[in-house]
Amino acid sequence: MRTLFPKDKHMTKLQRFPAYYITFMYLGSTALLLYYVWPFIFNLDARLLITWAIVQFLGMFGINICYHHLVTHKSYTTNAFWKIVLCYVGGLATQSSPNNWSLVHLTHHRYTDTDRDPHSPNLDNPVLGVLRAALPLFMSITISDSKVNLMAKKSFDDPIFRFFDMTHMLWFWLTHGAVYFFLGWEWFLLLSVFPVALVHFGETAINCFHFDLERHDSESDRFWWIWNILIIGAGNHKLHHDTPRDYKTDWPIDLFIDRIKT
Ligand SMILES: [Zn+2]
Repeated sequence: MRTLFPKDKHMTKLQRFPAYYITFMYLGSTALLLYYVWPFIFNLDARLLITWAIVQFLGMFGINICYHHLVTHKSYTTNAFWKIVLCYVGGLATQSSPNNWSLVHLTHHRYTDTDRDPHSPNLDNPVLGVLRAALPLFMSITISDSKVNLMAKKSFDDPIFRFFDMTHMLWFWLTHGAVYFFLGWEWFLLLSVFPVALVHFGETAINCFHFDLERHDSESDRFWWIWNILIIGAGNHKLHHDTPRDYKTDWPIDLFIDRIKT
């Protein structure tokens, strides 16, 4: 079974490629963001509101609704149309293919905050910990975990998920390339670079902090729902670990899943 983990000695260079690719895309979008996009933020460019909608679209629909709950946890089933639409959106966030993302996340659930958690930030060196929470090149795991592979088998057998495993990079480059070609460099920065970098940052934040927003009821947490939207509906991460197949823990994405599930 193919995975993106870079530190397994049995992997070929070709199998390691996704880890290099995603790390490159993360660092590349961050560099472009810091160098080119910062003035748009500083000047409160009104177009950033549209950008923000794209961030939510990629994060909530592509990652949490699709990669996380549909592909990985199989929290619900839906028809082929929604599978195709959601997998396409997931690929635009350049956080790997559906099944590779699923393997990493299933391993994270199985070995949460242990040495075998692929993106736990809990290392003696906190800088290395954050790097491991962020970049696939620093994640570590073996590919021989039979239980994880068994849990992932159903999604590997799904022809639509497999199709997007093979083609997600193509859709990513066609879509973001079209943004550049038809709308120009500034819109490319706003509609492609900024959202891609922010969704990566959001996932890194979730990996680092394991939010559990709704369990707090103090005054300072009355804005929890805003934070929850900012982190793509994953604010109940600890509760989610107790009941991983219950998408109802993740507001507001549960409202959309209720409408598309079959
Ligand atoms: Zn999960």
